[in-house]
Amino acid sequence: MAKCEVCGNDYEMSFEVHAAGAVHTFDSIECAAQRMAPICENCQCRILGHGLQADGQFYCCAHCARQKGVAELADHA
Ligand SMILES: [Zn+2]
Ligand SMILES: [Zn+2]
Repeated sequence: MAKCEVCGNDYEMSFEVHAAGAVHTFDSIECAAQRMAPICENCQCRILGHGLQADGQFYCCAHCARQKGVAELADHA
């Protein structure tokens, strides 16, 4: 049992996410997404899929990247 680091819920089904050498504990995918998922620079939605990255900025899709002037990105095929 471990406490969710986002909402503090002590839940028996909590799980760990190992990322960049750190270990995070969450009770739900929703909390994990809130803590871990990058946010699209254009539409501010949480990026739960692969997303796109350019100049350290994240975009949910090539359309959003283009909206911000990043022309060379294309959606994952
Ligand atoms: Zn939680
Ligand atoms: Zn977007």
